Amino acid sequence: MSPESNRSVALIIPPQVQQVLNERGIRPEDLGPVIAAAQAGGRYLRQRHGGRLLAHRKAGEVTYWVEYSPTPEGYRIHTAYSHRMEVLEEAPAAQDPQPAGLEADWLCQPCGRALTLGKVNVSYLHNLLSADLHRCPSCGQAFIPEDLAVGKMAEIEMLLEGK
Ligand SMILES: [Zn+2]
Repeated sequence: MSPESNRSVALIIPPQVQQVLNERGIRPEDLGPVIAAAQAGGRYLRQRHGGRLLAHRKAGEVTYWVEYSPTPEGYRIHTAYSHRMEVLEEAPAAQDPQPAGLEADWLCQPCGRALTLGKVNVSYLHNLLSADLHRCPSCGQAFIPEDLAVGKMAEIEMLLEGK
C-alpha cells in the first residue's frame, strides 16, 4: 500500500466556499477521497489558464466534483458540487467530429489534450440521455460544469424521480 493512500488529505476551505458546500449538503469528508484518488491516479482536468485542477469521483450514487489547487499547506478548495446522474465516460469514436474553436479551458490529465465538444451519454434511473459536453477526445474524460450540475442536471434528476 502506498503512503499516499494512508495519508489524510489536508483541505483548506475558505468560509465562503464552506457556505456553498453547506447549502449543497457536501461534507469535507466527501472531498478528500476525490482529491486523493485524482492525485494518486494522475487523472483530473487541469485549467489551461490559472492552473486549477478539477477532479470527480463517484461515491455510491453521487458523483462529486472538486475544483482545487495544491499548495504546500494542503489542497485549497475553490468549489465543489455533485450530481446523481451517471456520466458514461467512453473513448470517443475515431470519426467523431472535432469542431474547431470549441475547446474548453480544461486539459485532460494524463492525456494533455484540450477537451472538445462531443456526445456524452448520461444515465439516471434507467434513462439514457445524450448531451453535447466537453470531453477528452482521447479517453473520454468528461467535464460537467458547475452551473450544469446544480442547474439543468438537478432539474432532470428531479423530473426523472417524479418529484
Ligand atoms: Zn483524456
